[in-house]
Amino acid sequence: MSRLRSIVLIVLVLLSASLGLGQDKPVPKVEVLQPRAGQTLGGMVEVRLKLPAEASGPAYVGLGGPPWTKLQPAGDANERHALLDSRMVPNGAQKLLVKTYNKRSDVAVNVTVKNRLNVYFADLHSHTGYSDGVLLPEAAHDYARNVAKLDVFSLTDHLEYVDNTEWLDTREVAWKANEDGQFVSIPGLEWTKKIGHINIFDPQTTRWPIDLSNFYKAAADAGVICKFNHPGDGTEVYNGLAYSEVGDRAVQLMEVRRDTEEQAYLRALKAGWHIAPDGSDDTHGPTWGSHFAWSGILAPGLSKRNILDALRNRHCYSTLDRDCILRFKVNGATMGDIIAEPVQKVRVVVTVNDPNPDDTIAKVELFEDGAVVETSAPNANRVQWKPKRTPGPGKHYYFVKVTQTDGDLMWSAPVWLTVGDK
Ligand SMILES: [Zn+2]
Ligand SMILES: [Zn+2]
Repeated sequence: MSRLRSIVLIVLVLLSASLGLGQDKPVPKVEVLQPRAGQTLGGMVEVRLKLPAEASGPAYVGLGGPPWTKLQPAGDANERHALLDSRMVPNGAQKLLVKTYNKRSDVAVNVTVKNRLNVYFADLHSHTGYSDGVLLPEAAHDYARNVAKLDVFSLTDHLEYVDNTEWLDTREVAWKANEDGQFVSIPGLEWTKKIGHINIFDPQTTRWPIDLSNFYKAAADAGVICKFNHPGDGTEVYNGLAYSEVGDRAVQLMEVRRDTEEQAYLRALKAGWHIAPDGSDDTHGPTWGSHFAWSGILAPGLSKRNILDALRNRHCYSTLDRDCILRFKVNGATMGDIIAEPVQKVRVVVTVNDPNPDDTIAKVELFEDGAVVETSAPNANRVQWKPKRTPGPGKHYYFVKVTQTDGDLMWSAPVWLTVGDK
């Protein structure tokens, strides 16, 4: 018995030793020939690489994650190439990831992605018969995409009504509707309490705390994107929009579609919130995304990853005009950004472009810390305006409000900055 035991022991020792040796043995890695580490990429990117002989199966390449592009044979036996659309991922530092059949052969190359931002039109608040609206998610998506011609859509039924089966269907319909470059759907829920209604985008669950401060904490911990809905003038919801540091991490957007809601927006910004204005219809009937308000979302391309990234960084504006393009930059930073480095001067660039030549811009107002400080009356459908400001030392924020001749309004997200001592 003891002899058997020692034999077993010896076998085990040998086995674990051989396994250990196996782990130490280096596995040949993929060799990326193009692009090089440190390169800045834009548009379509050609990727060329060499697979190790041991890893000659299928291989994929992506920038920091999906979408994955399959590599095709090129040149030598183990050479592969692919064309990657860098506009489907957010701008900034990215890792070019190569995935082979063996994770230990995979490599990552540090690159920077830089593409021009386009504007995509969205409705981020709507309902179906799963709460107090009508019909089902499939009909809502069909209408939003094919009739309203939205780029981005979010169904946000009241979570208090939605059961597990309905929530699964909401997500499945949204997932199926997603098509990079064509249409993005983000499944959402509306947290509906007396203290105020808040949309939650892409949540993992329908179960959320019922009181506001625990909700803020749960949302910040979950890393979801949230939006204050129909805030009125802001005095009667969310404790009068009382600032909450954890809430500021949880909430990125607020519906701003009329002058009363502009009061709520000004109140929130003054209190210290970092939020962007959103135009959404809150549709309860069968005509999703076609009423009176939309969000213009600035992103390099139409993918779910880009849209979520843009909303998280507040790169959006509220618009009552369905197709007007608004760009707002301060010292090179785009709307929604917080400039980290102190600045001395404030250089604003506003561009408004309505594709309809008869749809003219009557007025553009620049807000500084909640008050109008500069006004332009261009009376044209294409506008570029470059006001300059030299505010005193300290923290400041800027945004623009655009008024069209037909009364349609637009509000940009702010840019926040700090003027340093000279
Ligand atoms: Zn509501
Ligand atoms: Zn609603």
